[in-house]
Amino acid sequence: MDLLNQNLDETDPELFNIIKNEKSRQMTGLEMIASENFTSRSVLQALSTCLHNKYSEGYPGQRYYGGNEHIDEVERLCQKRALDTYGLTSDKWGVNVQPYSGSPANFAVYTALVEPHGRIMGLDLPDGGHLTHGYFTEKKKISATSIFFESMPYKIDPKTGLIDYDQLQKTAKLFKPKVIIAGISCYPRNLDYKRFREIADENGAYLMADMAHVSGLVAARLVPDPFEYCDVVTTTTHKTLRGPRAGVIFYRKGIRSVTKSGEIAYDLEDKINQAVFPGLQGGPHNNAIAGIATALKQAQSPAFKKYQEQVILNAKTLAKALQERQYTCVTGGTDNHIVWLDLRPLGLNGSRAEKVLEDICIACNKNTVPGDKSALNPGGIRLGTPALTTRGLKEKDIEKVAEFIHRGLQLALDVKSRSGPMLKDFKAKLAEDPEFQNRITELRTEIQNFASLFPLPGFDDY
Ligand SMILES: *Cc1c(COP(=O)(O)O)cnc(C)c1O
Repeated sequence: MDLLNQNLDETDPELFNIIKNEKSRQMTGLEMIASENFTSRSVLQALSTCLHNKYSEGYPGQRYYGGNEHIDEVERLCQKRALDTYGLTSDKWGVNVQPYSGSPANFAVYTALVEPHGRIMGLDLPDGGHLTHGYFTEKKKISATSIFFESMPYKIDPKTGLIDYDQLQKTAKLFKPKVIIAGISCYPRNLDYKRFREIADENGAYLMADMAHVSGLVAARLVPDPFEYCDVVTTTTHKTLRGPRAGVIFYRKGIRSVTKSGEIAYDLEDKINQAVFPGLQGGPHNNAIAGIATALKQAQSPAFKKYQEQVILNAKTLAKALQERQYTCVTGGTDNHIVWLDLRPLGLNGSRAEKVLEDICIACNKNTVPGDKSALNPGGIRLGTPALTTRGLKEKDIEKVAEFIHRGLQLALDVKSRSGPMLKDFKAKLAEDPEFQNRITELRTEIQNFASLFPLPGFDDY
């Protein structure tokens, strides 16, 4: 067996077959998980290059290993494109493109700016925030952000579903956080960065935006710009931005202008760079950095802007089509790529909806909705349009998708009305009842045929 120069299908047919099956799942399903996307062929190619082989601990011009002249070029190109994409200049902003993903990027910022057990405020996880913004229960600290730091959540207003900035302002005055995070994983509305800035300034806190979900929309200038008001901006690069799985940290340089106590210089650069390496990481993933660079080049193109416009148009179309069928969208609609459905008025919960939709090849996730009693029984689902939009779906196609979702949810209601109270009763009924199985098969076939009409970027069969 040639260990070095055979193709994957020859050396490892077992694994290759699994990958082909995953490709076919992606091809025949409707991917509506809001954090997912299909990256481009050029990003996948960058990920599979010889850049992967190189160790380059340190930063361009200051590496711990030799032979990094080209790696330095790649990283500098990526840094320049990152600043250009968001209209930033290197006198005011710096960027670190080495974080392995979004979670390590956030942890690096906290490590840089907050002392151990210092205080951090972020949107609560059940209200649409992210685990890395801090999460703990009465029994357990779940996120490392809550283990190594002290986290205090802010909330949405359970009546409107909108972020309760007044409550954040009051709590921040008492808690005196070192960092306030403006960022979402399930929130369909624009953020008021100006208001966040005012609250941060009242308390001498840093304002960090985590734009992981919306970084593609920000690049296309379609949602508010976090750079206008924030000290630090983190992002993943694989969600709406449509690059490789990785993370990026932007930090302000120079004079901090907005403060009551006069001019204060930022000293974020060394702190953040040192927190990433050598604080938390070793050698950067240079193939991923190359992938980010090429994704960012794409993000500056008119075609990318058109794509992001369609992402939002599709989300608005989806929200409207579901509302016309009497479904409840949290906050009443969407400004971005997310549609947040409250299924409780229908008498359904997130787990049952997710299960039936998965069975008919629509991927989404159950999600808590405002006013849920327990995070263990979420009352809704989160839907997103970035991946379907990448495959070329337009408004009229999304109308069809809304009808598929509607038929799936009606089926879930029928199963529920004829099964016991527990989720396992529901699943058993769904699996055993021939009428329901027939309806599932019929709907799934229809959806798979529909999905297969839309091409996937990447390579043909893997
Ligand atoms: C997805 C996400 C992250 C984490 O990214 P990973 O790459 O999964 O570690 C962080 N913050 C927000 C707001 C996210 O949505």
